[in-house]
Amino acid sequence: MSYRSENYEKIAATLKKNFEKRQIDFFYCDTVERAKEQVLSLIPKGASVAWGGSLSMEESGVMDAVKNGDYRTIDRHRSSDPQEQKKIYGEIVCADFFLMSTNAFTLDGQLVNIDGLGNRVACLSYGPDKVIILASMDKLCTDVDEAIRRVHLMAAPPNALRVKADTPCSKTGVCADCQSPGSICCQTLVTRISRIPGRITVVLTGEKLGF
Ligand code: SF4
Repeated sequence: MSYRSENYEKIAATLKKNFEKRQIDFFYCDTVERAKEQVLSLIPKGASVAWGGSLSMEESGVMDAVKNGDYRTIDRHRSSDPQEQKKIYGEIVCADFFLMSTNAFTLDGQLVNIDGLGNRVACLSYGPDKVIILASMDKLCTDVDEAIRRVHLMAAPPNALRVKADTPCSKTGVCADCQSPGSICCQTLVTRISRIPGRITVVLTGEKLGF
């Protein structure tokens, strides 16, 4: 085991205690493959599953497994008609499971997420019965302020490129604290506690995923 892996195992033990104090379930898996299996083991066959845009879920192979598995998937992109999309969003908030990553998390067990439209953070805070979060350990921050800075510095600019957002950061690579109509940083959610015990599960991996 490398020193980094050993260090991550030790941090994970602290994170587990801190997330569980906040009624958030927690698993640490050293590899992406194990993390993927952990996520899938939490979802019973036949469950309805929705998701927020997540590179981590895609890169890990979870999305392929879910889309090709024995689940009732709810894809918000299945229609571009506004009325139909409204109906789909209604299904998403009533889903059994919602899959996403987190933009950052803190050593004391808080989740920090910043959204454009806000559909992802809305489902994290309320709606789907269970929320499963998959993220890599490099999203760890010491506190909420650092986590918000991390999102603007490391996550939002490449994400703006990914979704082809018309923002200053997609042109320069650097956050300009913009108020652009196309900003992907309109809503900031800090999840301090899961009011419903075990509604949120965090699965962390020691290998790199996402931004
Ligand atoms: S420039 Fe705007 S969209 Fe880009 S990271 Fe900063 S606030 Fe977010």
